[in-house]
Amino acid sequence: MDLYAANNLPIYPKCCHSRKPYLPFQCTSQLSPRDVKEFHTAFYKNKQKKEQGMFILSHCDSKDPKRHRKRKDTNNRLKSCITSYQVKTCDGLMISVCRQTFQDIL
Ligand SMILES: [Zn+2]
Repeated sequence: MDLYAANNLPIYPKCCHSRKPYLPFQCTSQLSPRDVKEFHTAFYKNKQKKEQGMFILSHCDSKDPKRHRKRKDTNNRLKSCITSYQVKTCDGLMISVCRQTFQDIL
């Protein structure tokens, strides 16, 4: 993704994770359009591509899947690695969202 320039307004994410409580994402159920806008603005305060990259890194969280299965299939391991993203709301809460939502916001 090329996020260097803010050339459009944030899209309010429309993924369907909110209706799936078994997933570790809260996405749209916890985000207001204002939160989305504020987070978008916070991101584009970083003018350098490098700073934007750091911003993303500090807001994402990759979890290794359970390690007790000893398989030598590294491709498979990478695919099952869960990454969630954190979005800070106006109230200062950190909300876990999926990659799709995160990309929509930025
Ligand atoms: Zn989602």
